[in-house]
Amino acid sequence: MALTDHQISENSPIRALDEAAINRIAAGEVVERPASAVKELIENAIDAGATRITVDVADGGKTLIRITDDGRGIAPDQLALAVSRHATSKIDGSDLLNIHTFGFRGEALASLGAVGRLKITSHAPGEDAAEITVTGGRTDPVRPAALSAGTVVELSDLFHATPARLKFLKSDRAEQQALSETVKRLAMAEPYIGFVLRDLSGGGERVIFRCEPEMGEPQTALKSRLTRVMGAEFTENSLAVEAEKEGYHLTGFAGLPTYSRGAAVAQFLFVNGRPVKDRMLMGALRGAYADVLPSGRHPAAALYVDCDPRLVDVNVHPAKTEVRFRTPGAVRSLIVNGVRDAIHSGATRTSSTVADDTLKAMEPAPRVYQMDRTRSAPIPRSFAEAPQPFAPSARAEPEPEAPADAPLGAARAQVHGTYIIAQTEDGVVIVDQHAAHERLIYEDLKAQMAENGVAAQALLIPEIVELPEDQAQTLLNLADVLSRLGLTLEAFGPGAIAVQETPAVLGPINAGALLKDVLDELDGYGGSDLVQEKIEAVLSRVACHGSIRAGRQMRADEMNALLRQMEATPLSGQCNHGRPTYVELKLSDIERLFGRS
Ligand code: ADP
Ligand code: MG
Repeated sequence: MALTDHQISENSPIRALDEAAINRIAAGEVVERPASAVKELIENAIDAGATRITVDVADGGKTLIRITDDGRGIAPDQLALAVSRHATSKIDGSDLLNIHTFGFRGEALASLGAVGRLKITSHAPGEDAAEITVTGGRTDPVRPAALSAGTVVELSDLFHATPARLKFLKSDRAEQQALSETVKRLAMAEPYIGFVLRDLSGGGERVIFRCEPEMGEPQTALKSRLTRVMGAEFTENSLAVEAEKEGYHLTGFAGLPTYSRGAAVAQFLFVNGRPVKDRMLMGALRGAYADVLPSGRHPAAALYVDCDPRLVDVNVHPAKTEVRFRTPGAVRSLIVNGVRDAIHSGATRTSSTVADDTLKAMEPAPRVYQMDRTRSAPIPRSFAEAPQPFAPSARAEPEPEAPADAPLGAARAQVHGTYIIAQTEDGVVIVDQHAAHERLIYEDLKAQMAENGVAAQALLIPEIVELPEDQAQTLLNLADVLSRLGLTLEAFGPGAIAVQETPAVLGPINAGALLKDVLDELDGYGGSDLVQEKIEAVLSRVACHGSIRAGRQMRADEMNALLRQMEATPLSGQCNHGRPTYVELKLSDIERLFGRS
């Protein structure tokens, strides 16, 4: 067999690699790209107690990365140690499980000095300012320098010594993007520290991101930092999370279900101040919303798990963002329940963006009229798409019989047999009756389920449903579980089922359609254990069947009852599929529409 290039043709002796080679190999793990160098250097500044950190970069970090901090500095006689491998001031090696700092391996500076030109200038209190340079692994002697306080670490020409790695880097723009993300994520983790990110490419000085150190209580500081980094829309549409379990502490903000995204792009998780992308944590977050978001929608959230460092292993890999918890089950349920509680406390809220979207859709477009006189003036969309006037059923109700301060107000009319219009103290609420009712039934079913099981209503004449034999068998195998859901089934010859009872809250329903939906939901879920896991999904399907259909006329008292029930029901701001159940327009919004304010 012919030898390939990378096989060794003769017995080579075993050689110890020199320090520079060792550092270059280690660097491959620690420093993949400019963003990872930025991360290591910012973490060092945070560990040094900095309150302001400035990050200057050029050409996506490829030619220059410079981090300036106001931390405790490095004494001149420590500089050479700082850049040597496995030298750290942060642990003494006796307890690798009890780590309170970001760094502890003593690898980053040595690695950076191996793959670029590293210059550290530092001034520790009571010492002289000094600097040291390391180029391609070669360290120059420490020299006196001028710097009033803190540390400046400058890394230039990253990977110039390893052209192969340089080739793997993406465009300046892409690298810049990645390192901006890194800075922002660390800024989210450290609200009390101020950050500035500047791009010095081409001799310019462009501020890309800036946030001042935040003040106040932790939740307050965190909220303003998240507003700064993620935008006001996120914090306005999210709920504070605060929970504790078995030594793990959870804080942060979780987005309203109606403020969801099409991809998991707005999910930020931190463990003991470290940004992580841990699968288990992501899964727990998904689980917390399983009940209020359809598949394909993703919650927005910034969540912080803190614990004694002995309860979590962050030692998995220097550049990776996975962690290992001592009791993962506790962390999972902490997140699922903590976030759920927060969403429930936000009870009936829908996101403000829903009302904003409504307003946008309603706003006429005055600019078009002015700017383009040659075309005929467009008809405002809301009229163009609603050629019919109010449905004949729209009738003014006598005095509202709702308390003056009821959040959802008093029903005034039903329009198009689908929407309830209610008047509140300072605005108008439009309710999608079907979506709202579906949510109410679902919450009712869940509550019953949590107690003694869903109350069933016997059918006078059992409904016989024909099904493919295997499907009929699937349902019959699950008869016990389904009877707890208020659905009593019996075999009725091959390929047929007699439905004896249905959930009482649903009222009269089409049992055949209900069974098919339940089967869809259980597709692939054979055993009754698995059904237990899917109970909420099944209940959600069941709820659909009992809801007031769009198109059904409602009396004033029915409408008001629905509004009051919504106010009293958790999560009534969205239907089972995550769509809003109502929108609210404040009088001030309406006045704006009419140019009255
Ligand atoms: P580690 O962070 O794992 O200790 P590093 O190679 O990143 O390893 O840093 C080595 C040492 O240099 C640190 O332990 C710390 O004592 C010192 N150091 C690095 N950066 C700074 C800084 N910005 N301010 C003060 N000391 C620093
Ligand atoms: Mg470090």
